[in-house]
Amino acid sequence: MKVLFATSEALPFYKTGGLADVARALPDALVERGHDVRITMPGYSFLSHALTGTSVDAELEIPWPGGALAARVACHVPSAGAVAAFMLTRTLFDTLQPYDAIPRDELGLGRRFAFFCRAVVAYARHWGADIVHLNDWQTGLVPLYAIIDGMNAATLFSIHNLAYQGNFPPLLLADIGVPSSFLRTENGIEFHGQASFMKGAIALADRLATVSPTYAREIQTPAGGAGLEGLLSHRRRTLHGVLNGIDTQAWDPARDALLPAPYNARTVAQKAQCRSALIAAAGVSGAGPVLGIVSRLAHQKGIDILVDAMPRLVALGCTMVVLGSGDPRHERDLAELARQHPEQIAIRYGFDEPFAHLIYAGADFFLMPSLYEPCGLGQMIAQRYGTPPVARRTGGLNDTIVDGATGFLFDDPVAAAFIEAVTRAVAVWQGSGWRALQSRCMRQDHSWNRSAGEYERLYNLAMGALAP
Ligand code: ADP
Repeated sequence: MKVLFATSEALPFYKTGGLADVARALPDALVERGHDVRITMPGYSFLSHALTGTSVDAELEIPWPGGALAARVACHVPSAGAVAAFMLTRTLFDTLQPYDAIPRDELGLGRRFAFFCRAVVAYARHWGADIVHLNDWQTGLVPLYAIIDGMNAATLFSIHNLAYQGNFPPLLLADIGVPSSFLRTENGIEFHGQASFMKGAIALADRLATVSPTYAREIQTPAGGAGLEGLLSHRRRTLHGVLNGIDTQAWDPARDALLPAPYNARTVAQKAQCRSALIAAAGVSGAGPVLGIVSRLAHQKGIDILVDAMPRLVALGCTMVVLGSGDPRHERDLAELARQHPEQIAIRYGFDEPFAHLIYAGADFFLMPSLYEPCGLGQMIAQRYGTPPVARRTGGLNDTIVDGATGFLFDDPVAAAFIEAVTRAVAVWQGSGWRALQSRCMRQDHSWNRSAGEYERLYNLAMGALAP
């Protein structure tokens, strides 16, 4: 199959969250299985270093209000794995923060990704894709432009996070060459008076996927559907929950060059050296269990629950090492707690890959008190590193953690329930079951191979090559 995988971010070029991991690992796994896969993403101007050494694959003319715009497709061919095809165009991608609207230009963000979507359609035609795999709202207008411009390839739309929808004032449509009739028709992109990229894709893609079976159920309910639960349950027969995997080469405690002492399930005692290095780097005591967090500091991630629970966790003798970036309010709250308990709480801000590896390896437990979590990668990485997760029972956390066997789960999104789960976890850490818990975690298979096979099946369903 010729699979065009359209995304706003992909490793090793640009990453803000789990999508970038998926956008590298799934295409690579599909290449392994014999498919011809291209990852296509915007050629943001800040990627200029990655763009040197690429070769021009196509010069496309993209229909656009006021006259066609040129888009050049530059391919990066790695020694192994999927080719990356960057969409280059003058002016549209010359921003440093691709997902943020430029002040006083609310529509600029919508124009930027609408153009990307239209260019994806043109490239799918040029390259002769069989299937276009779309990811999140930034690619949401592809099925619509496929109707306007014509495209033979089938579409699968993956929802990684339903909360980010790409909703814009309807006047955007004139700017991006979409007839206003699409706002009126039942299967259009109208969503509460706005033009919604997410809604358009959910209505028009041939097949829908999301990143865990539990999240696939949750988004069909008012609590998890972000207003789109009605349409999603209407389309439930085309909606599939497929668990993400992790890149088991990049995340391998036995071969991780970023660790002071690599280890596997048999030599897990060497993990203690990673723990010592983590404590030293963070400047904390580490007398009791060390709880690690690597996360965007966003409401979704349950940072309020964490902040509420921290004084009690300190009293229980725990040490916490937090790596994160995001909402300044959460940063302030965490900084204040670290100031009050410098021996037991350390915070590091920013995006820091090496420190993230040290936390996954050096912590005793990994915390994810998320309010919702479509799939979550952190808990799977932590399990692979022998660091049992303590997490809220939601989305993919529910599908990847068995309470008491491969981590610990709590239900109510409140500090008391979280503290109770950590208390149970600490009891195991102090008791005789600890090594068995660690090795069960490390034995979990989180490789992409199984899920890649499932996507193959979905591609065939989308193309109508399989009976539903
Ligand atoms: P989301 O995509 O919602 O942010 P996921 O759990 O799916 O959450 O993916 C998060 C990924 O980003 C994981 O690989 C995690 O290790 C990484 N990550 C998150 N924050 C940071 C950070 N501050 N520094 C380094 N890596 C981070």
